[in-house]
Amino acid sequence: MSESDCLFCNIRDEKIPAAIVYRDNDVLAFKDVTPRAPLHLLVIPLRHIASLTDARPEDAELFGKLMLAGARLAADAGHGEDGFRVVMNAGPNAGQSVFHVHLHVLAGRELAWPPG
Ligand code: 5GP
Ligand code: ZN
Repeated sequence: MSESDCLFCNIRDEKIPAAIVYRDNDVLAFKDVTPRAPLHLLVIPLRHIASLTDARPEDAELFGKLMLAGARLAADAGHGEDGFRVVMNAGPNAGQSVFHVHLHVLAGRELAWPPG
């Protein structure tokens, strides 16, 4: 699949609208269109990587930035104390439906464990 066919590359390139809440040189965060919690953000790398299974050792810093951005956005939204969850689905059994890496950030309600 080329980047022009990728939903999240198109959101990154502002060809498809999204409620963007944060962007820097490495990552972009926007609201999930079907929120599963009062706060439900997706944090993506600007660079197209289809899945966590495609990540390479040299991507370690980028994946760290995704986590740190997710944690900071949750805290900025007022959930530093009551808590939040970050989760990345990889592959069919995990229910990954968009094949551009994305970190879900969920907060604002009690989150059941284990998920799914
Ligand atoms: P996955 O199932 O791959 O882990 O998560 C994909 C997420 O992308 C889902 O939570 C879904 O609601 C979200 N999503 C799908 N299409 C769009 C869209 O067009 N815009 C936004 N903002 N989110 C989307
Ligand atoms: Zn993409």
